[in-house]
Amino acid sequence: MFENNLDRKECKKMSTKLYDISNWCRKGTELENYPYIGEIDIDLTLGVVAKVGDKYYTAGVLNHSNKSAGVRKIEIDFEPEDNDYENNLTCPFCGYQDDDSWELSDSEDDHECSRCSATISYERVVTVEYTSLPVKPPEIVNANLIQRSGLNAK
Ligand SMILES: [Zn+2]
Repeated sequence: MFENNLDRKECKKMSTKLYDISNWCRKGTELENYPYIGEIDIDLTLGVVAKVGDKYYTAGVLNHSNKSAGVRKIEIDFEPEDNDYENNLTCPFCGYQDDDSWELSDSEDDHECSRCSATISYERVVTVEYTSLPVKPPEIVNANLIQRSGLNAK
């Protein structure tokens, strides 16, 4: 009985092995092929920022079978400025740029950053621009001077 309890406790021990997947896909899809960072004492899930020492990591890939996670190191700005007029929605906290920003609705007050899960508010700013293409040049008529102005006369 005592041993069973111990085993169960051992199984429930929280841990995640972290692998640096900054170069994700260059080394295939096996986490073990990526640089090993170390093991942490929590079960890392997606959308969570883990502070390890003085570094921040978010998980991009999880492998539940061997409790490992592919993570990227990110910088978190806890006193961010507004991000004005960026081409993509940019998280003020972690700097993540959402390449699919065009799929978002025009504005949202409690949008969740898909990398760090921070809550941000945004508004889409639409500007209008014009592109011009030449189609047909203007019509030109030839004309001859029949009287020169006094200024031009020699
Ligand atoms: Zn973010």
